[in-house]
Amino acid sequence: MSSISIDIPTLQINGNDLQNFVRFIYKHEKLLKEFGAIKVQPNIDCQLALKKRKKNLPLKPIMKKIVKINENVNIYSTQTIDHINQSSQKHFVETDENNFWSCLSSSNNVQRYLNISFSSKTSFFIQRTSSENFDLHRVPNQSLLKLAGRKLTNQFVPCVKRAHGSGAIFPLMSAQQRLFSIDYHHEGGDHHWYIIPSHQRQALQNLLDEQNSSLCLDHGQLFIDPSILDKYHIRYQRTIQRPNEFIVLSAGALAQSYAEDTSWSESINFALPGWIEDGHANIPFLPCQCHIQQNDVFDTIDIALFKQELIEKYVASYLNITSNDEPPILIGSSFC
Ligand SMILES: [Zn+2]
Repeated sequence: MSSISIDIPTLQINGNDLQNFVRFIYKHEKLLKEFGAIKVQPNIDCQLALKKRKKNLPLKPIMKKIVKINENVNIYSTQTIDHINQSSQKHFVETDENNFWSCLSSSNNVQRYLNISFSSKTSFFIQRTSSENFDLHRVPNQSLLKLAGRKLTNQFVPCVKRAHGSGAIFPLMSAQQRLFSIDYHHEGGDHHWYIIPSHQRQALQNLLDEQNSSLCLDHGQLFIDPSILDKYHIRYQRTIQRPNEFIVLSAGALAQSYAEDTSWSESINFALPGWIEDGHANIPFLPCQCHIQQNDVFDTIDIALFKQELIEKYVASYLNITSNDEPPILIGSSFC
């Protein structure tokens, strides 16, 4: 389907490494930066601290649909609506990749809702369990954010994401203040991801400028047909995330996805030294036209707290990589 996208590197993780997931990710930061994302598959010995009861949150799809920004270009923007037509929502959506995008392009007269919802400060992971069991809540405090203190890391909590049906759309987004993020797929339909690494942002911005679009890249305003990225030589990665797989997104990466069926997933933000060292942290937050919900507004992290000597101390104490570390099993090892 395309010439310049490839699948992201896939790594296997064992139970020991999962206990300090941030350290494992740091070990592979070079790959992460280059590709914008990596996929991590837990081995059979990994234990996750998951709630046993059936997932059942009373979530309603957000009131948004997508429309083409220009008649002849397969770039879509999200628009707020005041009601959802239940019958068209139940309409079967093609989820084979080629059919998904061609249906979207030709469905001018059919309302296409995002059909997703979010529940921030919610998690299917159990807190305060044995350290042998992986709990997503622990990630921010294992990460560089630790240097800013508990008051700040306590603000970083998981967000549950729901795809309400086949073809549900998660539009283009990046993490708050261009942090790193982890997305865990709990159950349900596979997610088809398209990831644009930070170093391709300017190329994407140029493409939007050419279309006279002032829509922002970071806050779920856009959904872009990958054939357009190919046409404009914007490098991106695609991958399919199945249940029990993690997608780790690098600082500043932009990502969009669609789901093959109803699903539950969950994400959290965190930092590695590269967030400071590569300049992601101090990119000024420019006010944009997006309506950012109250729940999504966090304090801006004061990067003056991340002094070089403290970063070095943090790396030595928490991310130290010994020569005994076994190399990971890489699937598709032609990537490195
Ligand atoms: Zn915005």
